[in-house]
Amino acid sequence: MATIFSRIVAGEIPSYKVAEDENNYAFLDINPVAPGHTLVIPKKEVDYIFDLSDEDYASLQMFAKRVAEAMKRAMPCSRIGVTVMGMEVPHTHIHLIPINAETDMNFFGDKANVSAEEMTRIAQAIAAEMQQHSELY
Ligand code: AMP
Repeated sequence: MATIFSRIVAGEIPSYKVAEDENNYAFLDINPVAPGHTLVIPKKEVDYIFDLSDEDYASLQMFAKRVAEAMKRAMPCSRIGVTVMGMEVPHTHIHLIPINAETDMNFFGDKANVSAEEMTRIAQAIAAEMQQHSELY
């Protein structure tokens, strides 16, 4: 059975889409640790990140870098934190989180309370930054 993330890529389940390329897709985490919390996934359904081929891994990481750079421009934060766990959804995903302190990377505390309108605004702001700087890539 397709993972929930494959179904998002296929458009069967809605997402706050940030960006996509041929191999990868980025969207806001539905239960964000901080506003702007983004997930970056390969379209190919592989559970464990280090089971990706070298080529697919490099493609995913380069795409994540582009997304993180756009997030940094779109969100007020000092840097973008990066985490990979994957204990919940068996489809490789990189968490990108705008942070100002180490404690902002807290997956086990209260989640950020972000309205649907704000999720839409944030996704559009990051997407716009991706597009405005597309000539860099
Ligand atoms: P983990 O597998 O522990 O690295 O985390 C899975 C992440 O996926 C969690 O942060 C969830 O909030 C997130 N998540 C689960 N379902 C969805 C969904 N339909 N849309 C966006 N994010 C999701």
